[in-house]
Amino acid sequence: VEPRATIPPQNLRVPGPTPVPQEVLDAQAAPMINHRGPEFSAIMKRVTPRLQYFFQTASPVLTYPASGTGAQECAVVNVFSPGDHVVSIIIGNFGTRLAKIAEAYGLNVSRIEFAWGEAADPAVVEARLKELAPYKGVLMTHNETSTGVTNDIQTLAALVRKLSPDALVVVDAVSSLSSLPLEMDPWDLDVVFTGSQKGWMIPPGIMMIAASERAWQAHKTSKLPRFYWDWSSTRKQLETSWQHPTTPPVSLFYALDVALEMMLAEGREAIFARHKKAGEYVRGRVQALGLQLLATDARYASNTVTAIKAPEGIETKALLKKLRESEHIVLADGQDHMKGKMFRIGHLGYFTDSDLEQTLDAVERHLKELGYQG
Ligand code: PLP
Repeated sequence: VEPRATIPPQNLRVPGPTPVPQEVLDAQAAPMINHRGPEFSAIMKRVTPRLQYFFQTASPVLTYPASGTGAQECAVVNVFSPGDHVVSIIIGNFGTRLAKIAEAYGLNVSRIEFAWGEAADPAVVEARLKELAPYKGVLMTHNETSTGVTNDIQTLAALVRKLSPDALVVVDAVSSLSSLPLEMDPWDLDVVFTGSQKGWMIPPGIMMIAASERAWQAHKTSKLPRFYWDWSSTRKQLETSWQHPTTPPVSLFYALDVALEMMLAEGREAIFARHKKAGEYVRGRVQALGLQLLATDARYASNTVTAIKAPEGIETKALLKKLRESEHIVLADGQDHMKGKMFRIGHLGYFTDSDLEQTLDAVERHLKELGYQG
């Protein structure tokens, strides 16, 4: 076996996992406690209303030990029944994944698909929804991490509500919630979920999910099989004891507790503003270099992740390897059919202006060394 090696500090600029502040890392070194004891309940009692504040919902926010994909599955199995017709609005890889999960559980899925780089066009969605009615729910991605595009969820949700008032609006907010404005109750969203390794400044391992009253009603009659993901048992345990039905990742909750304190100190609106500024900065630098964004319309370009097309003649893999090996700057490749054809810079959660400046300076330098003329 290889001996254990110390992980060097990195400028980790992938769109999750994201860097974790030192205070949050330190918090996780605290001794283990009983997850059925009063200390753990005290953490949940602090954390839960703060999560509700960031979700902008009065509904309980449930937490599970899982990644974002677990959250996608949890959303589907709690509100639908086998054979239900649902519509999936897809603008990239994670929208496709959500549709596949729904199909895996025997739902009848109709897709409204847009090319990678595009946002869902509300006029197209409206026309297709009219053709596809009736349906039990509409699945959509707030921020498509594979393409660096943010959908106008507020408009899309309002459309669904206008056309099919009882349909459930299910929103994947894995790489947006807490970083980009999303107002669950004011926008009348039914199921919203996110993952700890994105904007929350803690490691991977917790997913958070909330459901509207309409979704809780649907949950009561939904017939898809579930046990681990069952909202009822999770809610009951939270409401009776501020605990979980199964063993939670205790150290990650130490982390979440501290991270939420830091986020509240910074302020929700200030966090949104920092991400907006980061998105504008990264896009500005990229475009000044003559590079092309994957996002076809600047109005929908994401403020948490920027996807950049690889310039003609430059291999993404070579660029990412050079950045990683020479400067410990870690960027993400494209996914699926875009692997090797683009790269992505994450700017969400914990970062400073100088982290981004250093990243873009290095991208510029290394692209030139690889022969990019601009
Ligand atoms: N949905 C979105 C929008 C994501 O960005 C991701 C991960 O990047 C997922 C779902 C899946 O999350 P995970 O990889 O944590 O399972």
